[in-house]
Amino acid sequence: MFNKILIANRGEIACRVIKTARKMGIATVAVYSEADRNALHVEMADEAVHIGPAPASQSYIVIDKVMEAVRASGAQAVHPGYGFLAENAKFAEALAAEGVAFVGPPKGAIEAMGDKITSKKIAQEAGVSTVPGYMGIIADADEAVKIANEIGYPVMIKASAGGGGKGMRIAWNDAEAREGFQSSKNEAASSFGDDRIFVEKFITQPRHIEIQVLCDTHGNGIYLGERECSIQRRNQKVVEEAPSPFLDEETRRAMGEQAVALAQAVGYTNAGTVEFIVDGDKNFYFLEMNTRLQVEHPITELITGIDLVEQMIRVANGEELSMTQDDVKLTGWAIENRLYAEDPYRSFLPSIGRLTRYRPPQEIAAGPLADSGKWQGDAPKGTEAVRNDTGVYEGGEISMYYDPMIAKLCTWAPTRAEAIEAMRVALDSFEVEGIGHNLPFLSAVMDNPVFVAGEMTTAFIEEQYPDGFEGVDLPEPDLRRIAAAAAAMHRVAEIRRARVSGRMDNHERKVGRDWVVSLQGQRFEAEVNADHDGATVKFADGAVQRVVSDWTPGDKLAVLDVDGRQLVLKVGKISGGFRLRSRGADLEVHVRTPRQAELAALMPEKIAADTSKQLICPMPGLIVKIDVEPGDEVEEGQALCTIEAMKMENILRAERKGVVSVINASPGDSLAVDEIIMEFE
Ligand code: ADP
Ligand code: ADP
Ligand code: MG
Repeated sequence: MFNKILIANRGEIACRVIKTARKMGIATVAVYSEADRNALHVEMADEAVHIGPAPASQSYIVIDKVMEAVRASGAQAVHPGYGFLAENAKFAEALAAEGVAFVGPPKGAIEAMGDKITSKKIAQEAGVSTVPGYMGIIADADEAVKIANEIGYPVMIKASAGGGGKGMRIAWNDAEAREGFQSSKNEAASSFGDDRIFVEKFITQPRHIEIQVLCDTHGNGIYLGERECSIQRRNQKVVEEAPSPFLDEETRRAMGEQAVALAQAVGYTNAGTVEFIVDGDKNFYFLEMNTRLQVEHPITELITGIDLVEQMIRVANGEELSMTQDDVKLTGWAIENRLYAEDPYRSFLPSIGRLTRYRPPQEIAAGPLADSGKWQGDAPKGTEAVRNDTGVYEGGEISMYYDPMIAKLCTWAPTRAEAIEAMRVALDSFEVEGIGHNLPFLSAVMDNPVFVAGEMTTAFIEEQYPDGFEGVDLPEPDLRRIAAAAAAMHRVAEIRRARVSGRMDNHERKVGRDWVVSLQGQRFEAEVNADHDGATVKFADGAVQRVVSDWTPGDKLAVLDVDGRQLVLKVGKISGGFRLRSRGADLEVHVRTPRQAELAALMPEKIAADTSKQLICPMPGLIVKIDVEPGDEVEEGQALCTIEAMKMENILRAERKGVVSVINASPGDSLAVDEIIMEFE
C-alpha cells in the first residue's frame, strides 16, 4: 500500500479523502491556494504545499504546479476529488509519466467519456440505451433547426464538452433552437474552449437516476445501486437520495448491468458514475459518465456500508475487488442535502462572506457504514445516522473563487420516511449565519408533499416554486404555536431587561402579562402566565398552549416544548420582536403590549424605496458583459448584462419593458451587492 497520498483538491472533498487515508494509515499531503491558507483541509493533512494564487486557474487546475507539489512531497498517489483536475486526461498522463498512481480511471477512459458525443457512440455500441438524437457535430443554426425538426420538439441542445450544467439549452420551436444553438455554442466556447454542439430529444418530466460502478484492474466490475438526483436547479443537483423511490429490482438490475457493460467497454477502472434519465414508464437513457468520485457519493456509502474512497485507493494500488455483485446489499435509505451559500429567495444566486456562525448538527453513527467500522467511529451511536461532510469552520470565509457549497448533510435510517424525518430534525439544529444560505429551502423540500411521496422529476423546483422560493406559508395552528413561543420568549427577555435596568436606576419595571403577537399578517392576543417550569399562553379565543424551554435571551437556537411537541426556532433579534425561522418559514414576529399594538396599527406602512427603475447587482461579482446601451428600448426578459460569481455566469434580465437611461458599470468592474448597475427612464 502507498504510504503517502496527495489530494489535488480543496474543501469538503479534500477533507473527506484525508479521513479515509488516515484510517488506512496513509500519510496525506494537501495543496492550497493563497485563499486557502487557513482552510480546514490544510489543517487536517499531515503536510501542505502552497501552489499559487486564489483563482483555480492559477493554482488548483495548473498541472505543473500540482506535479511540483507531488515531487516535493514524495507522494506515491494522487486523489483528484471531483472538479478541478479530476477528469483531466493530461493530468492522469503526467502522473503516469512519473510513476505516480492516479486514484481514478486510465487516461483513455477519461478521454472517451469526457466527450458527450463520443461517449454516446460508445454507449450505443455497448448496448446501452441512449437518448434519441443526432450524434454528429452541428455546423450552424440552420442545421440545428433542421435536425431539431427531424428529432421532434422539444429538444436539448448540448455542448459535447459540457459539464456542471453548462452549455445546454432546451428548445420547443425553431426560434428557440436557433437561439439555443448560438448560446450553447458561445457558452461552450468560453467555458470549455470547445464549441462542438449536438442535439438530442428532450425527455419531458424525467428523473435523473445514476448508477455507481466500481471496477478493478483485474477485469472485475460491479455496481453499487443507484442514486436519485432529480431535485436540481440550473441542471445542478441539490437533494439526492439512495435508493431511488422509483426503481424496481428489475430496472435497477438492467441499469446496473448496462452501466458495468459500458465501463468495461472503455477499459474503465476505479469508481465512476453512469448517469441516466428515466421517463415515467421507466424507460432509461444514458446521459453521460462521470469518471470520478461523485459529490453525492456518501449516500451510496451509507446504504452499502462501502467506503468508496478506500475502494478507490485499493484499486489504484492494483488490488482485486474484495466483493462481488452478490455481496452488495442496499440497506435502508439515505438522503443528502447540499447546503449552499446561495440565496434561495433570489433565484439561488451565490452569496459570499464570512461564516459568523457555523454549527452543524451532532453527527450520529448508524446503519451499514457505521457497522462496517469504516466511518464515524467517534460519533455517538444511534438508530438513524447523521453525517456532515464539510470543509469549512465558524469564522471561515466562503470566497468567490470556488464552489459555493458549505456542507453535505446526509441522514440514513431504515426507511425513507424516517430518513426524511431525521433530515428535518438535523436541518432544524444546523446554524449558519453571516451569509445567504439555502437551509430554509432544504427544509421546505423535506416537507414538500411531492417529495415526501417520492414523485419528483427534474422539473420539481420549477413546478413547485414557479415564482421562485418565497419561504413557506405556515398554516394557522403552526403560527399559533410560534406565537405562543414568541410571547413566552419575549416575556423572558422583558423580565431580564427589567432586572438589569432595575439594578441600574433602582426602580422596578413591571412586566405585564398581555401581549399582541403579529406574524405573517396574523395577529394573536396572548396572555402569558409564567411559573417555575414554563409559561401558559392563553389566546383571546380561549385556546391555551403550554410552553416549556430553557431559552435565554441571546441564544440563537431555541428548542421549545409547545403543548408536548418539540418546536425548534432559529432566533434573531429585530426591533420590537424576533426574526424566527422554523423549517421552511422565515418570519418577522412582533411582540407588543396592547397599547403599542394599537399605535403600531396606526403607523403608515413603511414604503420601500422604488427600485423598479434600477438594475441592482444581486450578488458580489465581476461584470463580464453589458448587453445594452443608454437609449436602448428593452423588452421584458431581455438580457441586460452578465455577472460572473463563483464560476457561474449569471445573466441579469429586464423585469419589464423600458428604456435604458444610464449605465453605471462596465465590463471588468467588481461590484458589491445592491450596487446600481443601470437605470431606466
Ligand atoms: P455531480 O455530478 O458530482 O453531482 P456536477 O456534475 O454538478 O456534480 O459537478 C461536478 C463538478 O463540477 C463539481 O466538482 C463542481 O465543483 C464542478 N462544477 C459544478 N458546477 C460548475 C460550474 N458551473 N462551472 C464549473 N465547474 C462546476
Ligand atoms: P452535465 O455534464 O452538465 O452534468 P448532463 O448531460 O449530465 O450534463 O445533464 C445534466 C442534467 O440536465 C440532467 O441531470 C438532466 O436533469 C438534464 N438533462 C440532460 N439531458 C437531458 C435530456 N435529453 N432530456 C431531459 N433532461 C436532460
Ligand atoms: Mg451530469
